[in-house]
Amino acid sequence: MIPSILPTYNRAPLSFASGSGSWLITDDGRRFLDLGAGIAVNSLGHAHPELIAALTAQAGQLWHTSNLYLIPTQQKLANQLVDLTFADTVFFTNSGTESCELAVKMARKYFYDKGQPDRVEIITFEGSFHGRSSAGIAAAGSEKMTKGFGPLLPGFVHIPFGVHDPLHAAVSDKTAAVMIEPIQGEGGIRQVPDHCLKGLRDFCDSHGILLIFDEVQCGVGRSGKLFAHEWAGIEPDIMMVAKGIGGGFPIGAVLATEEAASGMTTGTHGSTYGGNPLGCAVGSAVLEHVATPAFLSDVNRKARLMRQGLEGLVVQFPNVFGGVTGSGLMLGLKCRANNIDVVNAGYVAEVLTVPAAENVVRILPALNILDDDIKAALLRLEAAALIVQSAK
Ligand SMILES: *Cc1c(COP(=O)(O)O)cnc(C)c1O
Repeated sequence: MIPSILPTYNRAPLSFASGSGSWLITDDGRRFLDLGAGIAVNSLGHAHPELIAALTAQAGQLWHTSNLYLIPTQQKLANQLVDLTFADTVFFTNSGTESCELAVKMARKYFYDKGQPDRVEIITFEGSFHGRSSAGIAAAGSEKMTKGFGPLLPGFVHIPFGVHDPLHAAVSDKTAAVMIEPIQGEGGIRQVPDHCLKGLRDFCDSHGILLIFDEVQCGVGRSGKLFAHEWAGIEPDIMMVAKGIGGGFPIGAVLATEEAASGMTTGTHGSTYGGNPLGCAVGSAVLEHVATPAFLSDVNRKARLMRQGLEGLVVQFPNVFGGVTGSGLMLGLKCRANNIDVVNAGYVAEVLTVPAAENVVRILPALNILDDDIKAALLRLEAAALIVQSAK
């Protein structure tokens, strides 16, 4: 008999009753150190007092009016994002995959309005992840996500990650945009080197096509900059955001330059919930916290502590771990053992991590994880590694 929850997830037999900072507490009082943060979502940890205050104040005032009317909290969050980034304008969604939908529509509409309606193709990369909508799975293109769900949305050209020649071969007079995660998350914490992001910007400029960054996972402070592409000193035309910006409340956004957004006129796109007062109140509070030089420099300091510790584990357990990848607090432990075994051993050691492709274990803690919790995390990861090693 089919379970009452559609069985699409492979869940660990764990459930949590409460959370506090980087800790999740089970009903029977066991305390798990959370290095997954709800897949890079709980950017300020669990039960952050300022986020609770922002959400409850808004909840007592007004939940939802729809985009038939002005929404001051939405205006405030849009202004914050425009002030802090390359973007001139923002559309609010409820998730990463909805942000992908709009990014694709926006790129196509841009060229349609420029009198180039055949420019519909978007170049994407192997190992990428852009969400589970029809556009999202077609964009990423992996058989794991697309098999059985055809016909797929056409117009995506998939090329290998990390090599230049296929990119030059893929571009044509049908190309509208290149879409890429500056740091692949699901794909195994694979970082695009800064010089390659720069090269991609030049490439798009020279071909007159748009550059779309998917910063759903690597954005909002996770890389140690507010957005990961800032490390490369270049800017996209369109950017997808979600996950960390809501700190646990479902909200996403598409940021764009005035030029790239020029096709998106009244009536061309919409969302009932997108940019609702609850999500925007929380998003504003997250940004007020994260988008300060002091906070981001502390993320980088914590990231160094975490990374040093992880590199120590790689040396200590050469049969279990092969190396550390990533940037800031978006880190990956490349495994020599099976990454799922490492994640499962973490459950025994009461530390939560997230598996990814390429046999990687993701370390995505709250951006404000305490130094003591980093030390505790490393001890628990050591305990997990010992379990895996002794089982070998
Ligand atoms: C998670 C993720 C998405 C999809 O976001 P949802 O909120 O799950 O729809 C898209 N792109 C990237 C890079 C992601 O990590």
